[in-house]
Amino acid sequence: MVKESYFTKMMSCVCEAVAKRLYEYLDGELNFRTRLLIRMHLGICARCSHRCQFYQALSAGIRERAEEMRPTENLRARLLSVIHSNDGSPDPR
Ligand SMILES: [Zn+2]
Repeated sequence: MVKESYFTKMMSCVCEAVAKRLYEYLDGELNFRTRLLIRMHLGICARCSHRCQFYQALSAGIRERAEEMRPTENLRARLLSVIHSNDGSPDPR
């Protein structure tokens, strides 16, 4: 059916656009209108909705690992002293 294939093609264009901005969407970096459009699309598109859930789980997993890999007090103090000894100059040698 011509109509259906046109719809499928159009949907996959939207899916591509959504996929490109999904990280920004999840990080809350998009403006209200774009966020709303993506949210609406996620409501009707199982593929993008699954992808979104995957990204969410992935970034939650990364955050969890980052918590586990928190530097020891000793390393933290050393890093801070290196940072402060640079005076915040952009090009340390
Ligand atoms: Zn989609």
